[in-house]
Amino acid sequence: MDGDPLTLMSVDELLQAEKRHLWHPFTPMQSWCDEAHEPLMLVSGKGCKLTDQHGREYLDGNSSIWTNVHGHAHPTIHAAIRAQLEKVAHTSFLGFTHEPAIRLGKQLVDLMQGSSLTRVFYSDNGSTAIESAMRMALQYWKQNDQPLRDTILAFDRAYHGDTLGAASVGGIPLFKGSGNEFGYRVLRVSSLEALIALPADEIKRLAAVIIEPLIQGSAGMRIWPQGMLSGLSHWCKEQDVFLILDEVMTGFGRTGTMFACQHEEVVPDFLCLAKGLTGGYLPMAVTMTSERVFEGFLGQGRAFYYGHSYTANQLGCAAALGSLQVFREESVMERLPEKIGFLKTQLEILKALPQVLEVRQCGFIAGIEIGPYAQENLTGVKVCMAARKHGLLTRPVVDTLVLMPPLSATLTEIETMVEALRLSIHEVCD
Ligand SMILES: *Cc1c(COP(=O)(O)O)cnc(C)c1O
Repeated sequence: MDGDPLTLMSVDELLQAEKRHLWHPFTPMQSWCDEAHEPLMLVSGKGCKLTDQHGREYLDGNSSIWTNVHGHAHPTIHAAIRAQLEKVAHTSFLGFTHEPAIRLGKQLVDLMQGSSLTRVFYSDNGSTAIESAMRMALQYWKQNDQPLRDTILAFDRAYHGDTLGAASVGGIPLFKGSGNEFGYRVLRVSSLEALIALPADEIKRLAAVIIEPLIQGSAGMRIWPQGMLSGLSHWCKEQDVFLILDEVMTGFGRTGTMFACQHEEVVPDFLCLAKGLTGGYLPMAVTMTSERVFEGFLGQGRAFYYGHSYTANQLGCAAALGSLQVFREESVMERLPEKIGFLKTQLEILKALPQVLEVRQCGFIAGIEIGPYAQENLTGVKVCMAARKHGLLTRPVVDTLVLMPPLSATLTEIETMVEALRLSIHEVCD
């Protein structure tokens, strides 16, 4: 191992190689590679704390981009991954099966007990979970005598991921991929009212409606009016249009219930889960659907022609099983209301600041909108950079500061995170 030249690299050498060879997502690489910029290199984590190359500690204020659930280095999840690693890390799900995938699928179905979501399709990330749902919905109608249903309806400012398919239903221009020439249309509306008002010949063409339930994340934590989701679900059932719920961000406790759809007792035709599925340890996703959809793919040599090399990765399944075990053993959901209530009182402090326009909270997710400032001033970015000095890591959406701690955050950690934001807002905006 000591013969590996990489182990001999100093932090400086590593960062030089980083700037010379790597390319980061959604990152203006010109300023990233600037001599004066020293990238933060995260070395280790424990609970809500992350440690950088200099041994400085930070609180993980956005759960490592909305993925981490029970904190870093959780012993239960580590044990689950290690035990699986002793057996095998990865085997193909194409023509084979394995125990962790079966056990996880069963547990996910049990979480949705009494609902019609009884089928689990694995993929690798949020975008592919959405891609799977869109393809299933479109292919279902095509091969089940309604080929005219070629349209997916999505909402303004939606974000559903970055593959071309998932990006095509997104409504944030900055994030949109190019063209969409895959034989389906995307229609976009701003509200349930606008959807209901569509002409009948448009409604007839709808294969599915896709939405981030309760709260749009990448739009800046925009919260839908209460009752919107149940109204939408009701309308979809009436029109026999599939409802795809993108719970990539909201799944696994973030909103105060295990899944956001449970707030309004909605059961979709497709439920897409990713980020928190493995507790934030490994990339993995599922698309859950009903027997109705599944049966539409039976017979006549039919199959769902879609999948990836790492589908149902065994280590990923083990991590997800470990995370669900933590939910049960540590009564995570039972302990959440107190933390959500405490976060609410803490957010009042920020709400009172003159620089704060609006504070939006949905369970354990908060968006603190500052301003109004000209977008090109990058005030939100500056505040989050300043927060690092106060021991907090997070990323804004334009001028909305995101606070979305792991569900395991303690009251003291929540208080420290809010205080770091308060100090940083003062520093940057006064
Ligand atoms: C992050 C996210 C996605 C995309 O997930 P990836 O794993 O990044 O592909 C899709 N939808 C929502 C709501 C998300 O927050």
